Amino acid sequence: MAKHIKQIAIYGKGGIGKSTTTSNLSAALSKAGYKVMQFGCDPKSDSTNTLRGGKYIPTVLDTLREENVVKAHEVIFEGFNGVYCVESGGPAPGVGCAGRGIITAVQLFKQQKVFEELDLDFVIYDVLGDVVCGGFAVPIREGIAEHVFTVSSSDFMALYAANNLFKGIQKYSNSGGALLGGVIANSVNAPYAREIIDDFVKLTSTKVVEYIPRSVTVTQSELQGKTTIEAFPDSPQAKIYTSLASKIAQHTDSKSPSPMDVKELREWAAKWADLLLSYENGELRVEAHGNI
Ligand code: ADP
Ligand code: MG
Repeated sequence: MAKHIKQIAIYGKGGIGKSTTTSNLSAALSKAGYKVMQFGCDPKSDSTNTLRGGKYIPTVLDTLREENVVKAHEVIFEGFNGVYCVESGGPAPGVGCAGRGIITAVQLFKQQKVFEELDLDFVIYDVLGDVVCGGFAVPIREGIAEHVFTVSSSDFMALYAANNLFKGIQKYSNSGGALLGGVIANSVNAPYAREIIDDFVKLTSTKVVEYIPRSVTVTQSELQGKTTIEAFPDSPQAKIYTSLASKIAQHTDSKSPSPMDVKELREWAAKWADLLLSYENGELRVEAHGNI
């Protein structure tokens, strides 16, 4: 029997840390001995940069515009520790749907049986999650990915994007769509940040997979064109990415979340606004990772 290829989609608002987290995840999985492909699905096409010394690779859509027939191997590039890197690319500005790059690339790889040929253990899709466009739902809707994780900070707009993603997952959950693995909490440094995210996951019936602090080590690595796993393998930050990788490698039980409706989300945010004001006035204390 063919081996099971675990296909994972990482969603989140633009700039929240998807590509950084995904690249470190891919790098850590490869170091654990897995064969990994990282598939950038953001029209920005920079998902795999830190796996490739900070360099951009030709995208699937760009290559298709130049040649009529594309062989899968023309758009797959090896990066750090043998991680296979792909960027679906974007449409010409102002024209067409960015989802097309994802569909085209996946079809190409399926036809040419690339995943099997490369003997992959993981395919990780790095998908922009704050655009309301059907194309971005492709990895969830078409049953391409099996498990979805979202990167979010405790900022309202990031949680708002996560909640929208949950609505998308719920919608396709009965027709073979991907299910939610959990939230990867990024940039959790402020004492209340963890509390806010913990409250959000409780209300939406999901969980936090890992808490990742904002760290200058990540900035230093990025400036060197590397993942933290490559640049500072012994750092505390690298240990956190390695822990995330082992949790995702072991993960099996994804489920349908229970997103909040707009009114609930607003009321929830207003409650937190009041709580934060009380913190500031010293009326409430936040205990280390504890309750209020
Ligand atoms: P996205 O892919 O979601 O658009 P990126 O991964 O490109 O976001 O991250 C945006 C910026 O934030 C980058 O400059 C990245 O280095 C930085 N960043 C992300 N996560 C962290 C972190 N945990 N600590 C420090 N910087 C981070
Ligand atoms: Mg990105």
